[in-house]
Amino acid sequence: MTTVEPPSWQSLRAAEARLINTGVPGVSVGNAVFESIVTGLRESLLRLAAPQQAQALGVPPVVSRGLLERVGYIDGFPNLVGTVYSFTGSGADWNRLQEARAATDAAWYQEQQISEVALLPATCHHIYPLFEGVDLPGPAVLTAEAHCYRHEGTHELGRLRSFRMREFVRIAAPDDCIRWRDDWMEQQRAWLTSLGLETSVEPASDPFFGSAARLMKATQREQELKFELRVPVGDGLVQAVASCNYHKEHFGEPFGIRVAGEPAHSACAAFGLERIVLALIAAHGDIPADWPQHVRSVLSLDDAGVA
Ligand code: ATP
Ligand code: ZN
Ligand code: MG
Repeated sequence: MTTVEPPSWQSLRAAEARLINTGVPGVSVGNAVFESIVTGLRESLLRLAAPQQAQALGVPPVVSRGLLERVGYIDGFPNLVGTVYSFTGSGADWNRLQEARAATDAAWYQEQQISEVALLPATCHHIYPLFEGVDLPGPAVLTAEAHCYRHEGTHELGRLRSFRMREFVRIAAPDDCIRWRDDWMEQQRAWLTSLGLETSVEPASDPFFGSAARLMKATQREQELKFELRVPVGDGLVQAVASCNYHKEHFGEPFGIRVAGEPAHSACAAFGLERIVLALIAAHGDIPADWPQHVRSVLSLDDAGVA
């Protein structure tokens, strides 16, 4: 078992990697051993991508709500968005609400107003607006990692609401983006295999919502825009631990990005860090000290002093 309920402080110091459920479905805390594997994964990925000389950015877990509207995320995935609301009244307004709460069953949040930020659904959303109106002299490669939020409808093992996504993004000409995406697909497969994970690469579509979903999913598959690297993560489940995506002009166009005078296309390679740890646990057990030496060395677990 990799999840324990209720949270227990003993598991924080365990030799086993644990993803501790907080009591809120899909919201979990990794213990120290779990986190040492996340660190190993991050560093291994950055070594793998080192030849690309990606610019590493630090991005927050919230993003402009207007941005999600602009890139069509709200139209495609209204069910997954976590929107930030806040109390914007005066002290006197709050006092009135407190009195109402004392007299009735008024809720403390009933006067909350939607704010201009939402929780970040995918790390790469922060990257494209940085290039708004820019004509790049050549391809740009960037990397970032963030806690992402998706208001998932189910909460089986591996389907978290809050999870970390490391992404590599390329903004370039169409052919260049496709080539880069396809190279990443091979590298992702080889890297996951080097971690002893049984990996299949499959054409995929995003979980579009509502009446347009069927058409959007079919178009995405037809045009081979998204591929997933699927791996067993435990409990008999096989999930995408990584994906690689070609967006065409989806992001370049709304931000007016150009590369050498031509409209920019973009592509991204994404890695779900918690899911990869779960897959490692499913493949090798929950005590990293007992994992095959070649897996430990890909993750530099010996250097990190993980017992
Ligand atoms: P899924 O098909 O499982 O819903 P997705 O196709 O929506 O995932 P992407 O948008 O490609 O996922 O996100 C990149 C990566 O982030 C995924 O390959 C996965 O490893 C991770 N990820 C996505 N959603 C979740 C989640 N709810 N919990 C944990 N990891 C996730
Ligand atoms: Zn992305
Ligand atoms: Mg998917």
